[in-house]
Amino acid sequence: MAEALGGTLVIGGGFAGGYVARLLGKRGATIVSPENFMLYTPLLPEAASGTLEPRHVVVPLRMMCPHAELLLGRATELDVASRSAEVATDDGVVTLEYENVVVALGAISRTLPIPGLADHALGFKSLADAIFLRNHVLRRLEAAVAAQSEAHRRRELTFVFVGAGYAGVEALAELSDLVRDALRYYPSLRREPQHWVLVDAAPKILPEIPRSLGEYAARQLSGRGVDIRVSTTLDSVEPHAAVLSDGDRIDTSTVVWTAGVRANPLNERFGLPLDERGRIAVEPTLQVEGIANVWALGDGARVPNGATPGQYDPPTCQHALRQARRLVKNLTGEQKPYRYRMLGQVATLGRYKGIAQVPGALLRGFPGWFVTRTYHLYQLPLLPRKLRVVADWTTGLFFRRDIAELSMLGHPERLR
Ligand SMILES: Cc1cc2nc3c(=O)[nH]c(=O)nc-3n(C[C@H](O)[C@H](O)[C@H](O)COP(=O)(O)OP(=O)(O)OC[C@H]3O[C@@H](n4cnc5c(N)ncnc54)[C@H](O)[C@@H]3O)c2cc1C
Repeated sequence: MAEALGGTLVIGGGFAGGYVARLLGKRGATIVSPENFMLYTPLLPEAASGTLEPRHVVVPLRMMCPHAELLLGRATELDVASRSAEVATDDGVVTLEYENVVVALGAISRTLPIPGLADHALGFKSLADAIFLRNHVLRRLEAAVAAQSEAHRRRELTFVFVGAGYAGVEALAELSDLVRDALRYYPSLRREPQHWVLVDAAPKILPEIPRSLGEYAARQLSGRGVDIRVSTTLDSVEPHAAVLSDGDRIDTSTVVWTAGVRANPLNERFGLPLDERGRIAVEPTLQVEGIANVWALGDGARVPNGATPGQYDPPTCQHALRQARRLVKNLTGEQKPYRYRMLGQVATLGRYKGIAQVPGALLRGFPGWFVTRTYHLYQLPLLPRKLRVVADWTTGLFFRRDIAELSMLGHPERLR
């Protein structure tokens, strides 16, 4: 049995948990996380397209939270009565005692019972997903070169993204840029039509941003030939086809599923009070409803916001960061209700195109792209990380995109 450093145990080293431990500073904390880094998800689409080196969109937790202790593993049990948690590590199960525990388990991809979805579609949530997707897309180009028929070639050059929120729109925009740049090295494919399809059940794309910006994004994507299917759902996925609710059957080897997330199911196992969506119900102070010394925040919690009465926070980094600030103040001083008014929203639509809602202005095109990048640079923790990202972006202005496909990285050859 070990004790959490400074008495605070943080379960989950993502955006919310990572910031809680960082902001606790010298008071110390023990972070339990399966990875030794925090993923800065807003830059994940750029890692997938190769604009950024994948390592540069993650921040090592030991560097981000130098006064915290990291226990690499997965929390499996939480016992609020004895104030202890069990963690499965590579070396067996460790039990940790705490004075306060912060549950920040985030969300997982929300799949629906759509035939073939789990078997044939790709997710886009983790760094591994981004690297896999990039390799998969580059492989499709090789498969298209080798294809023996027009139909096969067209199938390999067809890419279907389901879910037109931030993750889906940004991933599609970035990857279509990657393909366009890569085709310079595929003379036989240069004149071949590509087919990029964006599917969403809602009547418009990017429903979370102001209408004029959403419409601009839709015009931008349509102008680039993206086939946008709103008010449409995915009916089934086959190894080489996607069937949509509008009756269309699209031949493709690539279906990317970004249609939402759901709270980590571990919340339920922990026996904490949950809402109907599996999120931990917290009080305005971010303490778990009715349970002293247990706190929760981020995508896995239902957080009431004093600035938006009657509405709970949406699952975004900005909100997770502001919640972390309030939670740490409440842990260490006078308890006050959490309150945050969102200042704006940003998104990139591929190279030199973006949208940004900032106080007093709606920016689109190059200004939108510039503000989006500047905002992410500001938000990314640690100066060395910021500089690496700036170096990648600067290199990208002068040199062509790298199209090496490194899928063998996860599968080293065995010694014979
Ligand atoms: C592709 C993509 C793009 C996005 N883009 C944006 C954007 O542009 N702007 C924006 O504001 N938001 C964006 N988001 C949303 C944003 O990433 C989330 O709101 C934010 O990460 C929430 O933080 P969190 O700590 O709650 O969850 P996460 O950051 O997901 O962290 C949860 C952590 O819990 C860990 N964990 C899981 N199981 C266990 C376990 N058993 N024990 C211990 N730890 C565990 C996970 O490894 C993870 O590190 C994006 C999300 C995605 C997927």
